Amino acid sequence: MKAKPFKDFSRLCVHTITTKPWRIDEAVRHFSKAGVNGISVWRDTLEDRDVVQTGNMIRDNGLDIVSLVRGGFFPSISRRKQLEAIDENKRAIDEAAELGSPMVVLVCGADSGQPLQVSRDQIKEGIASILPYAAERNVKLAVEPLHPMYADTRSAINTLSQANDLVEALNDQGIGVAIDVYHLWWDQTLEKEIARCGAHDNIFAFHICDWLNPTKDMLTDRGLMGEGCIPVREIRGWIEKAGFTGYVEVEIFSDRWWAEDQQYFLEEIKKAYLECS
Ligand code: ZN
Repeated sequence: MKAKPFKDFSRLCVHTITTKPWRIDEAVRHFSKAGVNGISVWRDTLEDRDVVQTGNMIRDNGLDIVSLVRGGFFPSISRRKQLEAIDENKRAIDEAAELGSPMVVLVCGADSGQPLQVSRDQIKEGIASILPYAAERNVKLAVEPLHPMYADTRSAINTLSQANDLVEALNDQGIGVAIDVYHLWWDQTLEKEIARCGAHDNIFAFHICDWLNPTKDMLTDRGLMGEGCIPVREIRGWIEKAGFTGYVEVEIFSDRWWAEDQQYFLEEIKKAYLECS
């Protein structure tokens, strides 16, 4: 199915990290004024803030809180660090509940001092141990597979196939997948795995941006949709065919865009969203 271009911003969500130079109250004010409907909140923006009040402030400005980013980082060669990660994830879940976020996105983690499969087993064990805690607080968890260039330390879950396997094995309504085009666009099985994810009602989130050629930094050189080589609209078509009707989340880490005037950047995001997503 070909995705039709969006005609409005009713499904547009922007991550706070995308406009990193803005404090969260500034981002909320500008997003709201610009007609953006959803916001995904990065935890660093909540430091030294009253989380309940911040959630109310966001809703008072007419924005939906789509997710809290991020928990995860379960694997470690140290058992003590694994247990600390569980506690940290519980804090993230508490924060999501206080904020009124229905979901925490998980960057699952990896430890390059041990085989990837051991990290994967620890991820599964870690998620299983926090799922009841999250369910009690009405918070869902979304596994975000990351591009294999991050398999050393950031995530041992690198394909949608692996994420689907993991989430299906956990077999719990509270766990699903966050599909980010930046991490998954290169995968020849992507269309099939998106369909599989949708068939299990496991598509919890959809993140967009673009892959620049050349990419100058592994972390902070993402492109705005249309600047790079990711077929964002085609992938969105697969996502919609798989039944996803939620927010389309613009998540861009970019030193180049962060150096621009953020209001100008937000207008460019809106244009790109209508044209390319
Ligand atoms: Zn993402």
